[in-house]
Amino acid sequence: MKPHPFDYVRADTVDEVTALLTEHGDAARVLAGGQSLLAMLNLRLLEPSLLIDINRIPGLAEIKEAGGKIEVGAAVTQNRLLAWPGLKDKLPFLAVALPFVGHFQTRNKGTICGSVAHNDPSSEIPLSLAMLQGEVVLRSQRGTRTVSASEFQLGMLTTARRPDEMVTAVRFPVQTARRVAFREVARRHGDFAIIAAAAIADGDRIRFGVGGMAGKPSIREFTAGADLADAINAIAWELEGYEDQHATSRMRRDLLRRLGPAVIQEALQCAG
Ligand SMILES: Cc1cc2nc3c(=O)[nH]c(=O)nc-3n(C[C@H](O)[C@H](O)[C@H](O)COP(=O)(O)OP(=O)(O)OC[C@H]3O[C@@H](n4cnc5c(N)ncnc54)[C@H](O)[C@@H]3O)c2cc1C
Repeated sequence: MKPHPFDYVRADTVDEVTALLTEHGDAARVLAGGQSLLAMLNLRLLEPSLLIDINRIPGLAEIKEAGGKIEVGAAVTQNRLLAWPGLKDKLPFLAVALPFVGHFQTRNKGTICGSVAHNDPSSEIPLSLAMLQGEVVLRSQRGTRTVSASEFQLGMLTTARRPDEMVTAVRFPVQTARRVAFREVARRHGDFAIIAAAAIADGDRIRFGVGGMAGKPSIREFTAGADLADAINAIAWELEGYEDQHATSRMRRDLLRRLGPAVIQEALQCAG
């Protein structure tokens, strides 16, 4: 199928983007890397009348550190963050999770903020934002607001972004906990995860996250020594797991029971 016809604007400033979003609302869509948006257009799951390309706006492709946080601008691609020299030291969790996102070629175009804005429940980047308790910076003509990952992520492909708002950046707190692990099951390397499981160990505290079970990432805290198999079985029943062409909910629960304890053990044994 071909997309529904649309107009295209290559914006030069963030103000231009927010003015267009104010004027057109939901009929307009921001075009970042296009790696998810173009598929949605081709399948006619979205039929916007205007695409606003943000890739040439000066200053949006920057990674900055301020106030104990790493700020990733809206045009920073996934590969650019992976190649950032500070990544392993400041955000070791993202250093292990990002290589699971698609393929080298898709990471060359796909942005960190685009994945956060899209909020696919199987995506590694929204799960990472939730694991690291990051925040999303939203700009509109009404002003700028910053919302936490948990406030931003509402459900499957649904976020707290209002139609007149652009995501200008996401921020990740610099990590002090260095023992991290990320695992997923996908049909082929580079496919979206059927189930993704993540762990960060800090002393005897373990932060555990799961993607691909519910409409948004689910995060839990454990103490080392707890009965992990029991705790993860309880999460599997609580989240149930959705059904799609890739897996039944029962398969998702089984995968979580296997991946969960393994990823936590890996984080606990990680030298950091
Ligand atoms: C073959 C293939 C394999 C892939 N595998 C994976 C995978 O394993 N894991 C994974 O997570 N992803 C995967 N993806 C998707 C890819 O990671 C995308 O990069 C990502 O989902 C969206 O980022 P983007 O910059 O391309 O956003 P776009 O596709 O440009 O936009 C996605 C959505 O977010 C909105 N948006 C984007 N940026 C902003 C902004 N700044 N402000 C407001 N709204 C915005 C758009 O309007 C659109 O609705 C894959 C893609 C392909 C083609």
